[in-house]
Amino acid sequence: MENVEIFESEGKGRGLRAIRESWAGDIIFAEPAYSAVVFDNLSHSVCHSCFKRQEKLLRCGQCKFAHYCDRTCQKESWANHKNECVAIKKAGKAPNENIRLAARILWRIEREGSGLTEGCLVSIDDLQNHIDKFDEAEKGLLMEDVQKFLEYWPSQSQQFGMQYISHIFSVISCNGFTLSDQRGLQAVGVGIFPNLCLANHDCWPNCTVIFNNGNHEAVRSMFHTQMRIELRALGKINKGEELTVSYVDFLNLTEDRKAQLKKQYYFDCTCEHCTKKTKDALLLAVKDGEDKPEERVVKEVIQYSKDTMEKIEKARSEGLYNDVVKLCRDCLKRQEPIFADTNIYMLRILSIYSEVLSYLQMFDDAAENAKKMVDGYLKIYHQNNAQLGMAVMRAGVTHWHAGMIEVGHGMICKAFAILLITHGPLHPITKDLEVMRAQTEMELRMFKENEFVYYKMREAALSNKPFQVMKEPNSEPATNLFHKKPQEAKS
Ligand SMILES: [Zn+2]
Ligand SMILES: [Zn+2]
Ligand SMILES: [Zn+2]
Repeated sequence: MENVEIFESEGKGRGLRAIRESWAGDIIFAEPAYSAVVFDNLSHSVCHSCFKRQEKLLRCGQCKFAHYCDRTCQKESWANHKNECVAIKKAGKAPNENIRLAARILWRIEREGSGLTEGCLVSIDDLQNHIDKFDEAEKGLLMEDVQKFLEYWPSQSQQFGMQYISHIFSVISCNGFTLSDQRGLQAVGVGIFPNLCLANHDCWPNCTVIFNNGNHEAVRSMFHTQMRIELRALGKINKGEELTVSYVDFLNLTEDRKAQLKKQYYFDCTCEHCTKKTKDALLLAVKDGEDKPEERVVKEVIQYSKDTMEKIEKARSEGLYNDVVKLCRDCLKRQEPIFADTNIYMLRILSIYSEVLSYLQMFDDAAENAKKMVDGYLKIYHQNNAQLGMAVMRAGVTHWHAGMIEVGHGMICKAFAILLITHGPLHPITKDLEVMRAQTEMELRMFKENEFVYYKMREAALSNKPFQVMKEPNSEPATNLFHKKPQEAKS
C-alpha cells in the first residue's frame, strides 16, 4: 500500500489519504477480496472463483453447489471452498449468502489468525460495525443469521463467541461490496475488501471503485486470483488529500441521498453537494419563460410520475415490457410540457423507456429517448462518473443499432474516454468498447463514402449480434457500492 495511509479525518473518523499525487485514471490501489461469495440465485450460472457469468460451468463433484469456469478457477478457489464444501455436503444444502460469507471469513481467520493480512491496512477485527445503531428489526435479523450460522458451523472448526460472530455479520451488512459480472450488467455476489472499507463517502468523490474480473495474467500472478477491486482517481488528487468514493448513485435529490446513507450506513452526509444542495435545482427543473407551469401543476405531475414509476417497476419485474412502453409513453406525454431536460422524474422514465425499447429492438425510438437521457445526465453527473459512462455506452450502441452511425460513433468514443478512467484499459467492458469504437469508425467512413454499401453491411453486422451489452430490463443494475439485502427478502 505505497500510495495511501490511514488518518483521522475531521468529523468523519478514520479515513484514507493520498501519500502521493495522482491523475485521472491512476490506480491508487488494487485489492483482492478477503472473502467473497456468489449470490444464492446465481450459484449455478456464475463462477465461484472469478465471478464471471458463463454458459457452461463445472460443478464441484463433492458438494454439487460450487461451480467454476475450469480447473484453474477451481484450484484457485480450493483454499476458500475446502471447509465450505464439507459443511454444505453434510447439511445437504447450502445456507444463504450472508451465512456462507461469514463462514468463509471465519475459516480464513481460523487459518491465518485475525491479525493484519498482507497488503491490508486494517484487520477484520478492526472494521467498523454499527450494531449499536441497529433498530429492533435489524437486531432480529442479525440474531436469525447468527442462529442459522451456528447450525451450519462444524463442531470440529475453531469456535467463536456470539459477540464476534455478530461483529462479522454486521461488517458484512455495512461493508459487503457488490460484485458484478464481467460486463458490469448484473450484480452477482458480495465480498469484503478491508482497505476499501476505509474510504469515506462523498456524494462528489475524487475516486471511483471498480470490480475487475477480467483475464489478466499480471494480476493473476500477483494475487493468485483474477478478481480484484481497483480504486481509481477521477481527476487530479494532491498529496495529503482525503480519498473518497460514493456509496450511492448521485442521480438523486439531496434529501433522498441523505436518507439512503443514513439508513444503510448510519451517518449524516455533510459533503459539499449535500450542504449546498448543488444540483437539486437542476434535478427539479421545470420549463421556464412563457411555458413556466403553475406550482400546483408541477406538484401534480411529480405525484403522477411517482405513481407511474411504481406501476412501471411492477410491470418490468413481471416482464410485461409492452405495458412498460405504454406507461412510459403516457408519462412522458404529461412530463414533457412541464419539466426541463434535467428533471430527475423525467430522466428516470427516459432511462427505463430507452432500455426497454432497445430490448424490444425498437431502435429508432430507443435512440431518440436515450439521447435525451444522455443530454440530461451530462449536465448532472461528474464528467468521469462510471454510471454516466455506462449510460453513454448503451445510448451509443442503441444509435448504432438504429443506423445513426455518426451520433452512435460519437457516443461510443465519449463512453470509451470515460471508461478508460473509471474502469481502465484492461477491464472487459473497456476492451469491448475499444472494439466497438474501431468498428463504428470503419462504418462511419464507409457511410460517408457510400451509403448503400453501408446499409448492406450494417444488416449483415446486426444479424451477427456481436455485442451483448443490453441487459435484461428486469435485472436490477448494481448502482450502490455496498450490498444490502432488502429487509423483506431477508425474513
Ligand atoms: Zn472462473
Ligand atoms: Zn464443493
Ligand atoms: Zn453528500
